[in-house]
Amino acid sequence: MLFKTIESILKNFPKKHLYIILTGIVIVSFVSLFSNLNLVSINYESQKEERIPLEKSVFLSIDELKPESFKTKESLIKRNDTLVSILKKMGVSSDNIIILINSKNSHLLSKIKTGEKISVTTNEENIVFSIDYIKDFRTGVKAELIKDIYKIKSYELDIEKVKVYKTVRIEESLYSEGLKAKIPDSVLMDLVYIYGWDIDFTHDIRPGDSYSLIYEEVLVNGLKKLDGDILIAEFINQGKKHIAIRYELQSGKSEYFSPDGKNVKKAFLRSPVKFSYISDRYNLKRMHPILHKIRAHTGVDYAAQRGSPVRATGDGTVVFSSRKGGYGNLIEIKHSEDYSTRYAHLNKFHSRAKLNRKVKQGQIIGYVGSTGMATGPHLHYEFHVNGKHADPLKVKFPNANPIDSRERSKFLQHSESLVSVLRNYQSLSHLGYNL
Ligand SMILES: [Zn+2]
Repeated sequence: MLFKTIESILKNFPKKHLYIILTGIVIVSFVSLFSNLNLVSINYESQKEERIPLEKSVFLSIDELKPESFKTKESLIKRNDTLVSILKKMGVSSDNIIILINSKNSHLLSKIKTGEKISVTTNEENIVFSIDYIKDFRTGVKAELIKDIYKIKSYELDIEKVKVYKTVRIEESLYSEGLKAKIPDSVLMDLVYIYGWDIDFTHDIRPGDSYSLIYEEVLVNGLKKLDGDILIAEFINQGKKHIAIRYELQSGKSEYFSPDGKNVKKAFLRSPVKFSYISDRYNLKRMHPILHKIRAHTGVDYAAQRGSPVRATGDGTVVFSSRKGGYGNLIEIKHSEDYSTRYAHLNKFHSRAKLNRKVKQGQIIGYVGSTGMATGPHLHYEFHVNGKHADPLKVKFPNANPIDSRERSKFLQHSESLVSVLRNYQSLSHLGYNL
């Protein structure tokens, strides 16, 4: 049957085309056979003998390679790049590539990843002298041509962390004066994150507020490579002190706590929708836009584009996830005996928002819509304390979980010693020492 079909196809083909196709098939099979043979011989060679005799053109000592003619090219690894494709693009000969691939430990160079860097040093005849595959700021793989083989090994550079102390008096903003004090951008962003739970940076900051902090700088081989984490910070806002201390928990996660072990994070996010604006506030005597009657507005409305993600404002369990009258598609999350939140008019539910499923703070549970009684796409968000409505914008949120009782004594030791280090720096700086 199959042969018949092929026969009829061939019969219907013009002769000239047929010859071209047949020639093509012969060439393709020849090439693939040849390259297979080639591969077989390479594998055979590498099993038998790790050192491959080099072609004359590659067989050069370092002096003959003319170090003064070396050039180094660093490239960012792109999607679908392989070591072979990168070297080919640089004009490195197939012989040279085969020798590299057959060298011991060449597998270390076979799994290069997109986004990482590779730096290749060649001489003027494009013979590879060395390769440095840079995985991150401290680890990588190095290949070096020594005599007639490549020595390939992975390496890890020494890193050193140094503490940096800064103190800043605010005249305009935390950020602008921070930059003037040469605090790196990433450290300032961390500072804003740590204090963002307690301090509203647009409304609460006053001239004369101040902050001091100790953060780490990561040095690799003595050179600054990364701005590390804030270890401790003190923010004095309108005379009130807020101290935050970084602590690595047994779980391996690091969090910030006050000196007595309270979490600086709150149990609830202030807003369940990013990129939104408040279109209607909590108001117990509101004129309803559709019913045109005085009817309490028991939540806050966040206007946002239809389909914008809605996040759980706190950890909890989904206790309702369905349609409910004027609420439209509604999710209710119970966070504790005392607290629950409601998210209404949803366009769609996220698959994790199923009845009795646990959700984490910040996880997407649904998408903004206008189901139920709504004039346009928005999220109606309610906050309930002990079964009663509360204004989500005014309620004082509880702190997230404090330090666990089993880790508490170790944390307190850590906290005490860091606070005293900070106090030492502060008094030295007060005495005019330039730190
Ligand atoms: Zn509403």
